[in-house]
Amino acid sequence: MPQNASTFLSVDLNALVHNYHFIKSYLKPNTNFLAVIKAFAYGHEAIAIAKALEKEKVAYFAVAYLQEGIHLRKAGISTPILVLHPQQSDVQDCVAHQLEPNIYSFNILETFQNCLKKLNIQEFPIHLKFNTGLNRLGFSHNDIPELLSKLASDNTCKIASVFSHLVASEDLDEKEFTQKQIRLYTNILSEIQKGIPYTFTKHLANTSGTLNYPEAHFDMVRIGIGLYGYANDKKWTAQLKNVGKLYAVISQIFPIQKGESVGYNRAFVAKNDCVSATIPIGHADGIPRTWSKGKGYVTIHGKKAPVLGNVCMDMIMVDVTNIACKEGDQVRIYDSQQTLEDLATKTGTITYELLTAISQRVPRIIVE
Ligand SMILES: *Cc1c(COP(=O)(O)O)cnc(C)c1O
Repeated sequence: MPQNASTFLSVDLNALVHNYHFIKSYLKPNTNFLAVIKAFAYGHEAIAIAKALEKEKVAYFAVAYLQEGIHLRKAGISTPILVLHPQQSDVQDCVAHQLEPNIYSFNILETFQNCLKKLNIQEFPIHLKFNTGLNRLGFSHNDIPELLSKLASDNTCKIASVFSHLVASEDLDEKEFTQKQIRLYTNILSEIQKGIPYTFTKHLANTSGTLNYPEAHFDMVRIGIGLYGYANDKKWTAQLKNVGKLYAVISQIFPIQKGESVGYNRAFVAKNDCVSATIPIGHADGIPRTWSKGKGYVTIHGKKAPVLGNVCMDMIMVDVTNIACKEGDQVRIYDSQQTLEDLATKTGTITYELLTAISQRVPRIIVE
């Protein structure tokens, strides 16, 4: 445990590698693994995570935005990187940093082809995204003839992959919808293949799609949350290890008398005498305001200490009336999947949001 960091996120690379191998053991030997490391590797630390996974020889990385890809390239990451959500203004930088764009619309395709033509580049790898029900990004099934003709108009681009994204792969009540998506995606693949003289990689499944639908693995799977220890289902999460653990300390302890209040706007007023502890982590660090008034909690010496009053920007105050503790003692915000999932449920959100909310102000301590 570092002595100099009061509030920190510990990032366990051994847990990451365990999760990678666990998920890989569910794949056929020739199915490729794409690691999704967008949003600072779901709030963990993109460079350290990317380096550890590069050692394991993952086939691909994906990030959401251009700058995330440039950040990885500047750190020396050489594995192919798919940029899931590029903008027209990004195409030149994509080429300069060998970042492979998701081509999801005719606008972005045209901009990209024009840019490559000007630079006199041929066969730059691109990834065609199809909308099969999420209605978020991607070409539609009906766009295929026009798309094929645009692609045939020059040889600037080479289709590295054709992919889509599942809507509700974690929800087995939506099995029928998911199976419909898989069928539509399969039809799209065969129509594209008819018009293209070479083969391309096919990928559809995120973490829960991979674990729940082996028939959706195709050539590659795109794993995000599972790498960090969460799989949208207790059964799978139990097999994974938690990568990120968030800790803080007690800065100061206040005895609070009956009738006194704690924090902004007097959101907590003591019904009885009690004890409050101030913790150096707040909403600017990624503790949501929804944790206010007892909905969220931290753990001190193994006991739950609920948040008193409102979450502040840089601090929370918690109830330690029944906990023997002193200033300087360690505070666990979360260090297990169960705790983070419980906090997410109690405060009306999902683990994805809590993980990615941890701001850059919180030091990351890499555990190898
Ligand atoms: C974020 C993302 C993923 C990863 O999803 P997880 O549920 O975290 O595994 C996969 N594919 C796309 C297109 C994404 O945007």
